[in-house]
Amino acid sequence: MFKLIFWGVRGSVPSPGKETSYFGGNTTCITIETKETFIIVDGGTGIRNVGNYVEEKGFRNIRIIFTHYHWDHLQGLPFFAPIFNPKYQIDIFGKRNVSKVLSIQMKRPFFPADYKNLPSKINHLKIKKNFTIDDIEVNTIENNHPSGCVGLKFSYRNKSVVFMTDNELSASDPVTKRAGFVEFVKDSDVFIHDSQYTEEEIEKKRGWGHSTFKEVVALADDAGTGQAIFTHHDPMRSDAILKGIVAGETKRQNKVKVSAARENLEIKIR
Ligand SMILES: [Zn+2]
Ligand SMILES: [Zn+2]
Repeated sequence: MFKLIFWGVRGSVPSPGKETSYFGGNTTCITIETKETFIIVDGGTGIRNVGNYVEEKGFRNIRIIFTHYHWDHLQGLPFFAPIFNPKYQIDIFGKRNVSKVLSIQMKRPFFPADYKNLPSKINHLKIKKNFTIDDIEVNTIENNHPSGCVGLKFSYRNKSVVFMTDNELSASDPVTKRAGFVEFVKDSDVFIHDSQYTEEEIEKKRGWGHSTFKEVVALADDAGTGQAIFTHHDPMRSDAILKGIVAGETKRQNKVKVSAARENLEIKIR
């Protein structure tokens, strides 16, 4: 069994409040787990609640993969309790110099604890194009996003989950062309993709590194996944509007089953 949980599904900045409480206001964080392995992707504010979960579940070896270092993907890390507990071994995967980037956000006067002297056992690793974490295979792809971002595919016992946050599918000067994404996403069992904007909104946001609901549905269709889960919701997107968009996309076409990620949603992949 392969389990996925969404802990933060919001893009850009946390957006708590009564208008966003159904889908949730925490920024990007998901977890992937098997019986023995626990992987966190991104440390947006959603990661704070993951601290209680690992304690409850008894995982001692935690892996964290950073897709990139924009605030909404790492600002929860200083509030992830296991980093202050010596019983945890934490392997952190990132591009470029991950330890330097993470220590900058915890430097004084931004934060009182020093990243370099945290009590947990932290190990830093570079993200390779393809690698394994225990018996989970991880494949990556370069997303189209300012300063870069990696798209991830997790495969375990013939099942796969693709998680692509922060990616502009229709970028004018792409690092990865659309055909490359279609190939990467092909036949995945769960496909999650950044859908921050509507078709109208993206006209003013070209080059910002995000995609539209329709672009994501079209990619899922071309890749033959049969379903798409929207994520990285715009901080201004209310629950009512987002529910309306999901209903509209469902009505507009019948090839791809669409839904929107929300906090605490669990998906079991068997
Ligand atoms: Zn983001
Ligand atoms: Zn970003």
